Parts: sequence; C-alpha cells; structure tokens
Amino acid sequence: MARILIAGGSLGGLMAANLLLRDGHAVQVLERSPRSLQGRGAGIVTHDSLRQALGAGGAQVDHTLGVAVASRVVLQPDGRALCGWAYPQVLTSWGRLYTLLRAALPQDHHRLGAAVTGVEHQADGVQVSLAGGERLEADLLIAADGIRSTVRAQLLPQVQPEYAGYVAWRGVCDEDLLSRHTRDTLFPHFGFGLPAGEQMLGYPVAGAGDSLAVGERRWNFVWYRPAAAGADLDALLTDADGVLHRGGIAPQQVSWRQIAAMRDAARRLLAPQFAEIVEKTALPFLQPIYDLVSPQLASPEMAGGRVALLGDAAFVARPHVGMGVSKAGDDAVALTQCIAEHGATPAALLQYDRIRRPAGLAVVQRARWLGAYLQTNAQGAAALPLRSADEVMRQTAIDARHFDPESPGSLPSLS
Ligand SMILES: Cc1cc2nc3c(=O)[nH]c(=O)nc-3n(C[C@H](O)[C@H](O)[C@H](O)COP(=O)(O)OP(=O)(O)OC[C@H]3O[C@@H](n4cnc5c(N)ncnc54)[C@H](O)[C@@H]3O)c2cc1C
Repeated sequence: MARILIAGGSLGGLMAANLLLRDGHAVQVLERSPRSLQGRGAGIVTHDSLRQALGAGGAQVDHTLGVAVASRVVLQPDGRALCGWAYPQVLTSWGRLYTLLRAALPQDHHRLGAAVTGVEHQADGVQVSLAGGERLEADLLIAADGIRSTVRAQLLPQVQPEYAGYVAWRGVCDEDLLSRHTRDTLFPHFGFGLPAGEQMLGYPVAGAGDSLAVGERRWNFVWYRPAAAGADLDALLTDADGVLHRGGIAPQQVSWRQIAAMRDAARRLLAPQFAEIVEKTALPFLQPIYDLVSPQLASPEMAGGRVALLGDAAFVARPHVGMGVSKAGDDAVALTQCIAEHGATPAALLQYDRIRRPAGLAVVQRARWLGAYLQTNAQGAAALPLRSADEVMRQTAIDARHFDPESPGSLPSLS
C-alpha cells in the first residue's frame, strides 16, 4: 500500500483518488477551496472511456448519468434547420459527475481548504507543503490542480497557458422557461448555430436536483466569440466596478454591460431559438479559451520522478473536443495501471508519461484544429477558411474512437 497525495479535488483528482483507493492505496485529496465545489459548472459531454473510468472508480453509472440525445441539428439565422445528423450521445453536467465521484470517496480521504504550495523530493518520497505551514509526506504526489497548477508552476515554470484568441460565453437555461417552438425544434438536440467566425452550440442537461424529467431539464450553451488579446479581452474580464480579472472572471463578476451586449448580439446573429435561450439564462458567464501543453508529465527532474501531472494540469484542450473530463479520466486509469505494475515508484510515473503524453498532445492538436477557423490573424481575418456547417456538426465533441490521433482533421467514419 502506497501513500499517495493528490493536489486538486475536482473531477480529475477525484477520479484518480477513487481508482487508487480501490487498488488499496492510502490516498488523500487536498483541495484548495474551503467549500465543496458542488453547485458549480455546466454541461459535460460523456464518452465511453469516461463511463468506464467512473465505473472502475466505484461511481454509480446508469441511466441517471445524463440526458440522452439522438441527433444533432444546425439552425440557420432564421431558425430553420440547415442540416441534421443522427448521433446518439449522453450529456451530463459537471455537478452530476462531482456528486457521483464524491459519493464514491469516503470523507476521510478528502480535505477541503488544503492548498498545496510546494513539493520537495525526499529519499524514496516527497514532502508536500500546504498553505499555513503544514507538511505531509508521501510516496507520490499527483498534481490534479488544473490549468494554473501550483505544482506545475514550481516544477515546469516555463509552461504557460496560451490564449486562443476567443472566449466562450456559457450558461444553462431552464426548460420550462422556453417557448414551445424552441422546446420542439432545438431543445431535444445537440444544436449548432454558425454565424461567420463564431460558433454557438448546446445540448440538454439535467436540471435542479439532477432531474431528467421532461420540463425540469436545462439547456446548456457554449458560444465561441473572437476577442483579441489586450483591450477586447480585458474589457470582457473587467467587472462592473472596473476591476480586471485577468486570471479568470467568476460568473457573478461578469459585467451586466457585457451580458447585455452579448444578448444583443444573440438577437442579431443567432437563430431565434438560441437568442431566446441566451435571453432567459439567468447568469451567463464567460471563459477565455486556452491551450496548454506540458513537455513532461513526470521525469526524474520533477521532484525525483515522484510527481505526475494529470488532467488540466498536464494538457488543456479547447472544449471543441468535449474531452476535458474524459482525458482526465483516461490519465487516472493509466496512472493507476502503471502504479499497479511498477509500484509507487518513479518507473511507474515514467511509464505513465510515455503512455499519456502522446495521447494528451493528440487531443490538444485535434481541439486546435477544430477551433482554428474561429481564430483571427493580425489583420482580423480568420486563420482558416470557414468550415461547412455539416463538417462542424460532425466533427465537434464526438467520441474519441471515431477520430485518428495521427490526423486531427480526419472525418469520423460514421454514416
Ligand atoms: C468548479 C469547476 C467547474 C467546472 N465546470 C466545468 C464545466 O461545466 N464544463 C467543462 O467542460 N469543464 C468544467 N470544469 C473543468 C473540468 O473540471 C476540467 O476540464 C476537467 O475535469 C479536468 O479537471 P481537472 O480535475 O484536471 O482540473 P480542474 O477541474 O481545473 O480542477 C483543479 C482543482 O484543483 C484545485 N486547486 C488548484 N490549485 C490548487 C492547489 N494549489 N492546492 C490544492 N488544490 C488546488 C482547484 O480548486 C480545482 O478544484 C470545471 C472545473 C471546476 C474546478
């Protein structure tokens, strides 16, 4: 039985903790937030591998996981369907997954208000420092502390998130607020709206109390809009009191003026069904889109080979692939297998690096390819010509087994 500390108690950290605990290890999750993360987040696309990772970690995976959709549709600005595609998928929510993973992890393996500030190599292990001065010893540290990982900043300070040149406006709207027309023509589908150089998409998710009942669900939207680094992005990240939140703006801090301008653009640019959803969403929020690539997930130089980066701390792929959580689950499964084979040793983490680094890079590259047409060059022109609506619909957030990691732009082999 090895002593394994996990920095970060979001979905990646919880998946790793559940898997390692079931393999007999002494696991402790250290989450910086003093409060439970429940109640946060929006929609998540599921993939087969995510269901497998959840199940292997002891989370209950059944029909209550999310909303099953049967098809996709692209709406024209006048609200009529431009094209459609039968592609069944289950769409869940961040909160639902958090509930499942927390329920599977006994309370004494999970600490809130425990911010990791640093890690040092010790003979046959690591010493992990927490804010407040406490020090903990372990055989391994797994850094699942997200895109702005403190652990990665210490060990690989050169690795920084790269802004992609556009943001995502996000939100969820209650089903029962919507007109019959929107409920009939958009709500049941994974839907797209494609104004020039922008991309709106969304899908139904569970409602309050994880209800999947018709009338109680919600529609989750993600609207990608260009915003040049500098003045344009700063304006979006500045709250109504004039404070700039460069590291990310919390939902309640987004300026009402920016929300009003976004809603106005929705009325002008999007199908009326999307505009209605945006109009009736109580708290839209926004997220700048980044890429992040780590050159190593573990190496002898990283605290003697006893630290592994996992999930968003390792690689961040733009959300077009819909794989942030599945990728973290794949990392957690691979890491657990490597530790089972080699023990909690640097050799296990090196093997994990060999397996997951190419896989993570392939996901980032595919996501970059999917989003490249939304980026603009210095002259304000799109970096890639516009894609056809059909292509965007068939390439976005599909299951990983349908794409070729060697060829990010390959079309899925589906009818
Ligand atoms: C509250 C929340 C809501 C989210 N909602 C969505 C969503 O709706 N849709 C979506 O696609 N993705 C969402 N994400 C991102 C999604 O969880 C990740 O893309 C994916 O699951 C991989 O997650 P991760 O666990 O590697 O990193 P993250 O989910 O980013 O989690 C990192 C965790 O580490 C903690 N942490 C950071 N620094 C430290 C430190 N020094 N010490 C200890 N803990 C630390 C953070 O508080 C956080 O809980 C959300 C993330 C969070 C944290």
